[in-house]
Amino acid sequence: MPSELNTDFLIIGAGFSGLVAAHQLSQAGWKCVVVDRRNHLGGNAYDGYDAAGVLLHHYGPHYFRTNSPRIVEYLSAFTEWREVAYTIKSHVQGRLWSFPINLNTYEELIGRAAESEEFQEWLERNRLPIESPQNSEEVILSQVGHQLYEMFFEGYTMKQWQRHPRELDRSVCGRIPIRTNRDDRYLTENFQALPKAGYTKMLEKMLDASPSVQLFLNMDAAEARAKWNYKYLIFSGAIDDFYQKKFGPLPYRSLRFEPESFTAGQLAERQKLLGENAAPDGFWQTAMQINYPEQNVPWTRIVEIKHATGQQIDATTIVREYPKDWTPDDEPFYPVPTLESQAIYRRYQELATAEQNVTFIGRLATYRYYNMDQVTGMALTASQNLIQRFGTQL
Ligand SMILES: Cc1cc2nc3c(=O)[nH]c(=O)nc-3n(C[C@H](O)[C@H](O)[C@H](O)COP(=O)(O)OP(=O)(O)OC[C@H]3O[C@@H](n4cnc5c(N)ncnc54)[C@H](O)[C@@H]3O)c2cc1C
Repeated sequence: MPSELNTDFLIIGAGFSGLVAAHQLSQAGWKCVVVDRRNHLGGNAYDGYDAAGVLLHHYGPHYFRTNSPRIVEYLSAFTEWREVAYTIKSHVQGRLWSFPINLNTYEELIGRAAESEEFQEWLERNRLPIESPQNSEEVILSQVGHQLYEMFFEGYTMKQWQRHPRELDRSVCGRIPIRTNRDDRYLTENFQALPKAGYTKMLEKMLDASPSVQLFLNMDAAEARAKWNYKYLIFSGAIDDFYQKKFGPLPYRSLRFEPESFTAGQLAERQKLLGENAAPDGFWQTAMQINYPEQNVPWTRIVEIKHATGQQIDATTIVREYPKDWTPDDEPFYPVPTLESQAIYRRYQELATAEQNVTFIGRLATYRYYNMDQVTGMALTASQNLIQRFGTQL
């Protein structure tokens, strides 16, 4: 029996991509239905309070950053910000190192004070003369040489991706900065901040400002497409899912998160035990994120997001993150950027480009390792194109 439910736009996925598109189309007066198979909005950026009262990013830490004033201005309608200098360390050979590699890391390596020029000369002597690096191994070797590559990149990448860095696109390791000054911020973008009350609250506010949008959770795309008559579909799920994997499955990596909470009393005990190496009051570790590149430790990183959220609370929660092969029961967290996967993706992309009434946006639908600001930009552009094509309903 044909459905009697009507909408202008059916939008699959209530993450950044789907909600930004819905908000824009709603501002133009269009009716939108957004569905998500999870039981919450926000996609992978979803955050909320755990049993210890700590504000956690449930699908791994999400460090918002951007160089785009347009994106900051757009999102600022729904949130205030807390500026953060995201700092991380790397645990190698039984001790903590400054990371990303910077002058402090070099001093730790040689065991004495040094100047930038000396480190630059060291890098010149050690880096490999690779003119146009083709993969993640070459991109790091061409900047720092074997010793630092092996300490910080090779093991970490193998653990995280279950592939050697030379099999992975240069963008995987190439996104991590290498500096000869003392700037030890993890990221390079001009604007680095978290939404003050969290991502979920920010996206809920965006939804509140979208009067002609209805959200349905715990609902799959197939069910929604059978349920509603719609003029146009916006899809932010996995593109190989959309085409029933007709060219074969695209590879993904997944993750397992293991949270552990600590009371103020437990943290004080730990401080006593660790003495001068202890974290400040109310914290379990000395940095927001500590990487574990070595193979004898099963997790890749431990994140204590309270360092970044600035939440004033005595308890804390750390999250150990374990790499995981993707199975159909897991969330597909990372597209795997290899030559073979790109070749499969291109076949799906050809079909997607030929669609007249479907737009594919976001990380999974375009099979690219995009950040939140980038998918926001993509959804803004896609919805503006649709408004140009269909006009407004105001
Ligand atoms: C571990 C991890 C850490 C990250 N860290 C950062 C970071 O520090 N900074 C940063 O900027 N970005 C980070 N990202 C990337 C960020 O999560 C994405 O850029 C952003 O969430 C993409 O939004 P999206 O809406 O495109 O996709 P998603 O957030 O994946 O949302 C897509 C939604 O669609 C739903 N869906 C999929 N298929 C279907 C279907 N068939 N039917 C119904 N619903 C469906 C899913 O349930 C999901 O909720 C990280 C990602 C991961 C996995």
